[in-house]
Amino acid sequence: MSILNLLWRNLRRGAMTLHFPERPPVSDGYRGLVRFDPALCIGCAVCRFRCTARAITFTSAKTNFTWSYDPGQCTFCGRCVEGCKEHALTQEPECPPIYLTLGALKKSYTLPRKPPPPKPAATTAQDSGPQAANPFAGGAQ
Ligand code: SF4
Ligand code: SF4
Repeated sequence: MSILNLLWRNLRRGAMTLHFPERPPVSDGYRGLVRFDPALCIGCAVCRFRCTARAITFTSAKTNFTWSYDPGQCTFCGRCVEGCKEHALTQEPECPPIYLTLGALKKSYTLPRKPPPPKPAATTAQDSGPQAANPFAGGAQ
């Protein structure tokens, strides 16, 4: 394409700049904003260690913990969501939010520590039957 054709095409197309708060559509690969469900979180802090962008911060005390997320620092990579075995984190294909000051979007949740789940009771030989008592019994021909 010649330079004149290129110039003519661009002149005919008009201005491409969007005026605030107009926004372009998100790309197909965009994974989305992180959503947090406080009811499912056990305060393990795995998400905080997986977040290299430092969008998730975590502070812990004896009886409670504080989980915080700043969408302004998030790269929407999804590593925190993949690492949360409790499914307390999800991603929603919502537009990245607009913010004017650093930390303006940050949200914090202070939650009580949940008691650890009870340990499973040890099974006895009688509970499990004769095969469990001697797993090698009857195996030799
Ligand atoms: S959101 Fe998930 S990974 Fe993060 S502290 Fe809570 S349970 Fe752990
Ligand atoms: S999506 Fe990525 S950058 Fe955003 S909070 Fe999770 S791990 Fe951090």
